[in-house]
Amino acid sequence: MPWPAHTARHNPAMSTAIVWFRRDLRLADQPALTAACAAHERVLPLYIHAPEEEGAWAPGAASRWWLHHSLAALDGQLRERHGHLHLAAGNSLAVLRQVIADTGAVAVYWNRLYDPATIARDADIKRALGEQGVEAHSSNAALWCEPWRIATQQGEPYRVFTPYWRKLRQQLDDVVPLPVPPLRCADAGASLPLDALGLPPVPDWARGFADWTPGEQGADEMLELFADDAVHAYATARDVPARHGTSRMSPHLHFGELSPRQIAHRLHIESSRTDTRRRPDIEPYLRELGWREFAHHLLYHFPKTPTDNFNGRFDRFHWAARDEHALTRWQRGMTGMPLVDAGMRELWATGWMHNRVRMVVASFLTKNLRQHWLEGARWFWDTLVDADLANNTMGWQWVAGSGADAAPYFRVFNPVSQSQRFDPEGAYIRRWVPELADAPGKLVHAPWENPAWLHASAYPQPLVDLKTSREDALAAYGAIRG
Ligand code: FAD
Repeated sequence: MPWPAHTARHNPAMSTAIVWFRRDLRLADQPALTAACAAHERVLPLYIHAPEEEGAWAPGAASRWWLHHSLAALDGQLRERHGHLHLAAGNSLAVLRQVIADTGAVAVYWNRLYDPATIARDADIKRALGEQGVEAHSSNAALWCEPWRIATQQGEPYRVFTPYWRKLRQQLDDVVPLPVPPLRCADAGASLPLDALGLPPVPDWARGFADWTPGEQGADEMLELFADDAVHAYATARDVPARHGTSRMSPHLHFGELSPRQIAHRLHIESSRTDTRRRPDIEPYLRELGWREFAHHLLYHFPKTPTDNFNGRFDRFHWAARDEHALTRWQRGMTGMPLVDAGMRELWATGWMHNRVRMVVASFLTKNLRQHWLEGARWFWDTLVDADLANNTMGWQWVAGSGADAAPYFRVFNPVSQSQRFDPEGAYIRRWVPELADAPGKLVHAPWENPAWLHASAYPQPLVDLKTSREDALAAYGAIRG
């Protein structure tokens, strides 16, 4: 049966529009919301729970915890404005049609996402709504620059970060974020209760996530803290896992609780303050956000890379057989490599891990244990609160050596020298691996160097020998070189 054409279109200014929230859970600098409020009398804020539409990459457990609290926060903000977030579950197009029928909405507004499953789904929905006579408008809320807007001189996507960044950086100085628009909310009858979405884990292993504050207000506070303080030392402190030297904004960015435009704007204000002695160098930080943009650029242009090697040569790479025992010890932080175990335990306890340690644990898994990078990517997907298909794919392929602009395969991170360099006193290790809290001096980096001490402690023997496992990895790489 053809869907009946909509009839209430003659006066858009008196009409209702749906704002379909997805990973843009904020009210400020929210282009879809701003556009809908400008063109229509009322808006219906809607969130549709449809994890099966995200294909193999439906949100993992830690992300669902975050999503639950972020939706609650957005609903709270809307209630302060005499509205609420309308929650629904099921096929997105069917839900949209139902809500259109219930509210008489004449248009649907959303912000674009860049993972392949969502792109395909959204294109189908745009077409179907158009056929029904309902306008569909999409905007960019997540990136400084959408993936198709930057290309090499030959019109190709970039595969190397530095020239990509040089081009993107020129565009960042004049960004001004949008304010929260004046808002009149429509009603669409009964909304699902948030608990009905069943997002938080059962049993509740996420108690250690209590330091996070999901939602736009939490994101704003994080940005203020960072701009006031940590950004000043970011260039040096960002590599020290024992310090709060990075912004920890990754989950807020992933869920769209703040935008990279807002961050750039805030940091430009900070750096243009007249007191030059306090003026921070914001470039190293903007460059990291540039990596995030680059990851989205890659995912958009190479949509198979969440599962396929970016560098096809790695299709011939001889991974070790899947080793359940080694994987479990890696996941639980019981490999006997202190920095690796500290990182994996931080991840389990807090849903987040410091970037330097992410590189070390990923290198240990893919090179010393020679397990396929997808094993690690999937574990991160389930346990990170910032699990993000673009960043996670790029991060794993970069470390494994199979990615665009990747670390050369022969670069095997040595967990001992990495902790000696970036955690010299072992403060990070001692915090996350209590068995090593009292390890004397430098032994904290390599406790096997004193077999008697290790034997008497509760800490495990190393899962592999660093030297021989490195040599094995290099030999396997040698076989696919050239
Ligand atoms: P900051 O140092 O404060 O950086 C600011 C922002 O820039 C981050 O929030 C993030 O959005 C972006 N950014 C920083 N470094 C990178 C990078 N290397 N690649 C892409 N974006 C970056 N990041 C995720 O957001 N989600 C993931 O699922 C993810 N998986 C990763 C897996 C591996 C194996 C590796 C090596 C890295 C991964 N990263 C991922 C990138 C990086 O580790 C995190 O973005 C960073 O640790 C988040 O902490 P922060 O917000 O304090 O970062």
